[in-house]
Amino acid sequence: MNAFDYHQAVDAEQAIEQAMRRQQTRYLGGGTNLVDLMRETVERPAALIDVSTLAREIEETTHGGLFIGAGVTNAELAADPRVRMRYPVLSRAILCGASAQIRNMATVAGNLLQRTRCAYFYDIASHCNKREPGSGCDAREGFHRYHAILGASSSCIATHPSDMAVAMVALDARVHLRGPDGERSLALSELHREPGERPDLETVLAPEELIVAVELPPLPMAAISEYRKVRDRASYAFALVSVASMAALDGDTIGDVRLALGGVGTVPWRARRAEAALRGAAISERAIDTAVEAELEMARTLPGNGFKLALARRLMTSELKARVADAREGGES
Ligand SMILES: Cc1cc2nc3c(=O)[nH]c(=O)nc-3n(C[C@H](O)[C@H](O)[C@H](O)COP(=O)(O)OP(=O)(O)OC[C@H]3O[C@@H](n4cnc5c(N)ncnc54)[C@H](O)[C@@H]3O)c2cc1C
Ligand code: SF4
Repeated sequence: MNAFDYHQAVDAEQAIEQAMRRQQTRYLGGGTNLVDLMRETVERPAALIDVSTLAREIEETTHGGLFIGAGVTNAELAADPRVRMRYPVLSRAILCGASAQIRNMATVAGNLLQRTRCAYFYDIASHCNKREPGSGCDAREGFHRYHAILGASSSCIATHPSDMAVAMVALDARVHLRGPDGERSLALSELHREPGERPDLETVLAPEELIVAVELPPLPMAAISEYRKVRDRASYAFALVSVASMAALDGDTIGDVRLALGGVGTVPWRARRAEAALRGAAISERAIDTAVEAELEMARTLPGNGFKLALARRLMTSELKARVADAREGGES
């Protein structure tokens, strides 16, 4: 690990000011990803600005949503009774990730901005366009069982690893940012960039911009929502394929539906084509199959990750059927 300066910020303004004063700074959340990367010398910041003690509250919004401070830990968020009651998909997604010890340390902002788990990215002897632009991508011809089938490019096929982000994208979360030019907010689905020719540019964050909070809008149908994750081990493993889902019925048709995928996309993947195909459709197995195919026709596989296509198809189908059944049951009770 390279030597670095450490600064504990007392508020967001000071954190940004400290970051602007120095070259090559990184904000530090729980450090569960960044410090690992520093140990491997994949990341070599000259200074860390610790923001882990800032923004630790979860507050009600005036519209009936939740405003979640960026420094809230993953464990706190998953355990919050309002999250468990109103957005169970989020609580379950978080609890499917990492380990209890890591969730106790990891913050909301750090989770959203964690880097890919592509093994070649972590191995500084490998060619990796994300770590070193223009150097190539060893994953394409190498071991790519865990890699993306949606949103990939010839430059990079790495998946976004966060479970929490998948649930939040399905919930239409907004990210609140603060930076040298002031405050702004954007849909979480707009935060992460697909790799294109610049896989090193992972988000639309401006230099020194800080995530200060994530806002969940009120969403009654989220009270019956699920996160299902398929992985190689029952715990402590990243998703091969995961699905966040919820549905609301309007008589015999699908009134609204949310579907997002993890483990298959280069970004937390909102399945908008499938959603569009389902909204207003008469409830039937055929409608679900058609919607799933509409989403997955964009998938591009490699020899090692082709199985994800079949797995995603089955998981999306079974989860959509289950959410329709849940919504029917909810309507009858
Ligand atoms: C063994 C293991 C298994 C895991 N399994 C899973 C899993 O199954 N699913 C899953 O989703 N995750 C998993 N994780 C990843 C874990 O969830 C992340 O390491 C964690 O969420 C990162 O949060 P952090 O606060 O520690 O981030 P940090 O490591 O502190 O930071 C991560 C990044 O975010 C930036 N950052 C932090 N805070 C801010 C801010 N406020 N504004 C702007 N930038 C900021 C940092 O500069 C850094 O680039 C696993 C991790 C490990 C080690
Ligand atoms: S898939 Fe992306 S992160 Fe992995 S080696 Fe290729 S360029 Fe690097």
